[in-house]
Amino acid sequence: MTPEAMLAALDPEQREAAAAVTGPVCVLAGAGTGKTRTITHRAAFAVRSGAVPPTALLAVTFTARAAGEMRTRLRQLGAEGVQARTFHAAAMRQLAYFWPKAVGGAPPALLTNKFQLVANAAARARLRPGTSEIRDLLSEIEWATCTLTGPEAYVAAAAGRTPPFPAADVAAVYAAYRDLKTAQGVADFDDMLMYTAGILEEHAEVAEEFRARYRSFVVDEYQDVTPLQQRLLDAWLGGRDDLCVVGDVQQTIYSFTGATPSFLLGFRTRYPTATVVRLVRDYRSTPQVVDLANGVLASVPDKLELRAQRPAGPAPSFQEHDDEAAEAVAVARRCKELVAAGVPAGEIAILYRINAQSAAYEAALSNADVPYVIRGGERFFDRPEVREALLLLRGQARAVDDLPASLPDAVASVLAVRGWTPAAPSSSGAVRERWESLSALHRLAVDHAGEMDLPAFVAELEERAVAQHAPSVDGVTLASLHAAKGLEWDAVFLVGLVDGTLPLIHADTPEQVEEERRLLYVGITRAREHLSLSWALARSPGGRASRRPSRFLDGLLRGVVSKAAAPRPARTSRGSVPVICRICGAVLNAAVDKKLGRCATCPSDRDEALYDALRSWRAERAKLLGQPAYCVFTDATLAAIAEQKPASVAALVQIPGIGQAKLDKFGEDVLTLVSGS
Ligand code: ATP
Ligand code: MG
Repeated sequence: MTPEAMLAALDPEQREAAAAVTGPVCVLAGAGTGKTRTITHRAAFAVRSGAVPPTALLAVTFTARAAGEMRTRLRQLGAEGVQARTFHAAAMRQLAYFWPKAVGGAPPALLTNKFQLVANAAARARLRPGTSEIRDLLSEIEWATCTLTGPEAYVAAAAGRTPPFPAADVAAVYAAYRDLKTAQGVADFDDMLMYTAGILEEHAEVAEEFRARYRSFVVDEYQDVTPLQQRLLDAWLGGRDDLCVVGDVQQTIYSFTGATPSFLLGFRTRYPTATVVRLVRDYRSTPQVVDLANGVLASVPDKLELRAQRPAGPAPSFQEHDDEAAEAVAVARRCKELVAAGVPAGEIAILYRINAQSAAYEAALSNADVPYVIRGGERFFDRPEVREALLLLRGQARAVDDLPASLPDAVASVLAVRGWTPAAPSSSGAVRERWESLSALHRLAVDHAGEMDLPAFVAELEERAVAQHAPSVDGVTLASLHAAKGLEWDAVFLVGLVDGTLPLIHADTPEQVEEERRLLYVGITRAREHLSLSWALARSPGGRASRRPSRFLDGLLRGVVSKAAAPRPARTSRGSVPVICRICGAVLNAAVDKKLGRCATCPSDRDEALYDALRSWRAERAKLLGQPAYCVFTDATLAAIAEQKPASVAALVQIPGIGQAKLDKFGEDVLTLVSGS
């Protein structure tokens, strides 16, 4: 392809960005409008027209897969030699080269077990965190590192966050973690970025050598860049401005890691001479898919509305199922039909909110003989935590002596050894996914309670593990919505779309809920032609149909009437309306459910630090009053407070067990504890 033909394959706006080969260039555009295509063609055009030598160009993409795809596309366009990498991969390579020159010796080894080191750091800081708290500490440290917040600045920066311990304690763990890494000569992934940036900033001769080689930089998915990645990018540039960034604010889905679209939005201010291009033509999806994508963002101000370019296709389908297994079976059946109708399996994707949701689809696809591949996560039974748990369960099944009587209890006690707790950790990301994997095993035990003992359950798990080893070539893609970013398929199934899963129950603030909405937008816009959205009213067969479709689909169901319970009505005072589960919206009847403000079977979002603080406070008060602790508040009431975090007297008295007398005696203390949590 000639350089001219490369530009001719673009539309006028895309061409404007691609023809500006020396930057600064910023492309702000919605999903499927050709951002990635534009930067690939721009790089190829720059190289083939002789404007930039291939070895002087570095393209940064979000995932290793995207980087691989970009290298392939560049090769096809005749631009071999251009580097396309993730920030981490680029930094690791550069560090291996520059560390010996700048510091001497070999660069620090990659730290593989962050968790253990954070546990050690917590012990140094005289904390005794549980497993889920160590994970929350780790997430907090990662967030701080990615936002360039050092231990000394952490306390001030943590205002508005919900760390697992008081901010000063987290800062102490963070500092101890850093010291331990230095003492052991190891570095985590984020440190690799920091070290590379630091060397370029402080060692002029290294920076000179680097900048003599690399002149031109391209960043895809720039809306999800972290301040740490931006710092590395700045160090690469060293004041130069040959930078081309592309992104879509409406696809910001990694804020929880510290990523922010502010660099994308502030590009023009930073580079007043920049070529800024907006793209609105959606080349990927049918008008039907594009319509739905626009509909999901209808309430969002200042968004770029997509304009479909492709011919019409089938309307998106909305499917309500009785339970999750039925949903998975129906989706697998539909995949099989599509394959029979000529859609290659590799052009089909099933996307979900959290990786633990994949298990049901892995099983259903295996049973339907449809090949599949997992993206952005291993198969359920290959996950390290699941393999470890299976090993322990197998061992425990042989020690037949003192097993707890019920299967769920027996399984729970084994999972507890691996750090599993019935309450979900408050953090998201890997921590949450690990917890979800183990919870999926526990739920399976609950499903088989009464019909199996532990050895039979272990045999069942082993059978499942074997059955799911389906061939993984050209298969249906199973991926989380996060891992699907930037990718596209002919047919996309968005599954498990219930409130509590999307938005995820942990999305507390309006900003977090909006990020969940964007995840749905990302999911919808992956589809070229066939799009199916589905949910299940109950988790297990015969279970209570207590769920409702994702609130993001309100008004978009196009004639499909959900049998779900009505959305949660506004509560004025207790008794005037039924008490409703705040997670799934079901009407609550059982006393314990009412106290929790949710079905006992719905996932808990308890603030463990607050719960511990409440328990310590109760012990003190009980001692002072000379009464047993439960006379102050029962465990269930404390648990309800730690979950519902009432911010006012009005909210506090909504919790059953807190009448006028208790309110008078303890209300103020409780509200103070909650507000400080
Ligand atoms: P996302 O926001 O999801 O990352 P994107 O803006 O990067 O999307 P691309 O993946 O580059 O979009 O393009 C989407 C699809 O549209 C691709 O299949 C691409 O080949 C096609 N496409 C983009 N621009 C054009 C064009 N000018 N002519 C024909 N097809 C195009
Ligand atoms: Mg893209």
